[in-house]
Amino acid sequence: MLRYIAEQIVWQEVPGEVSLAYTFSGCQLGCKGCHSADSWDARQGQPLSAEHFARRLQDYQGLISCVLFLGGEWQEPELMPLLSLSKAAGLKCCLYTGLELSDVSGALRRELTFIKTGRWLPERGGLQSLTTNQKFIDLRTGQCLNSLFQQPN
Ligand code: SF4
Repeated sequence: MLRYIAEQIVWQEVPGEVSLAYTFSGCQLGCKGCHSADSWDARQGQPLSAEHFARRLQDYQGLISCVLFLGGEWQEPELMPLLSLSKAAGLKCCLYTGLELSDVSGALRRELTFIKTGRWLPERGGLQSLTTNQKFIDLRTGQCLNSLFQQPN
């Protein structure tokens, strides 16, 4: 079962959306300078049951517009039911992954509204950086929305 180390409401990670966000433990990509290296151990955190998740969606009904999963793609069979529950609740779905879009299965992509792809490379920076390798994509249109994270000079 997927285990989470953080359950938060966030405003900035998905532009224009209020998101219920889960940070899962167990990322295996090992990016140098990872901001949450303490979450690499898959034994960290609490199991996220479908029952708990459904209860949270009920608690936040009308208050959130999106669900954000940071990681979890390495347990796609576990992630898919959570995405189905989110969609059934009328919510958009976003995944933050260190993988590239071509590494993410078509089945998973079809369940998502947005995806952030690309490893953390300190010298390139995150979505706010003009030199970033990462991409934030609206999967409904294929449009890269990085400019929404970047402040004009
Ligand atoms: S993908 Fe994200 S969580 Fe995983 S190692 Fe890289 S920066 Fe850390």
